[in-house]
This record gives sequence, structure tokens and C-alpha cells, in this order.
Amino acid sequence: MAQTIVSVAALQATIARALHNAPADRARIERAATLIALGHVQQTAADEFTCESQRTLGVHYVVTPDGCSCVDAQRRPEQRCKHQYAARIALAAARAAVCVRISRAA
Ligand SMILES: [Zn+2]
Repeated sequence: MAQTIVSVAALQATIARALHNAPADRARIERAATLIALGHVQQTAADEFTCESQRTLGVHYVVTPDGCSCVDAQRRPEQRCKHQYAARIALAAARAAVCVRISRAA
């Protein structure tokens, strides 16, 4: 399986931006960072991920930056769940890593 390698610094900067942009969602963003750090987030398509449930091992949610199959997202569709934040952070950090690589090659 192909992997995108993202530096811890790029991940930290992306999480800091997310916290700055959505301070009210700090708890969800921090749980999203934990999901990424523990390797529970796997990219399955350009903008689709699976995320393992922290409560029920073996249960995986299908996640995009704007949707998730978890209970939290179904109950509160107006808010982003931690899985959606994890997907958004992973995508943004990967984009930042690509930008760094491009700028070094130039
Ligand atoms: Zn979710």
C-alpha cells in the first residue's frame, strides 16, 4: 500500500492551524491528532479514509473531509466529528509536505 510520509513538524503546524481556525472544536481536533498518531487513519482514495473506532476495536468508519459514517456525525451533521478533522488534517499536512518538496527541488 502506498504511503504518504508527513513530518511531525508539518503535522504539528497543521494541527495548530486547525486549532486556530476552530478553537471551539479543540477537543475533537486533539482526538483527531491522537487518531493520526496511533495509526488509526488510513487513506483509501484521494479524499476518502477509513478510521478505526476508539471505542469498538474492529469497527471502521468511512470518512471524507465533509462526511463520516460514525454515530457522532449522524447525530450532529452540522458539526465535524473527530474523524472528519483527522481526514482534513491528514490531507492538509500531506499537501504541506508536497509543497515543501516542490520548493526544495526548484
Ligand atoms: Zn466520525
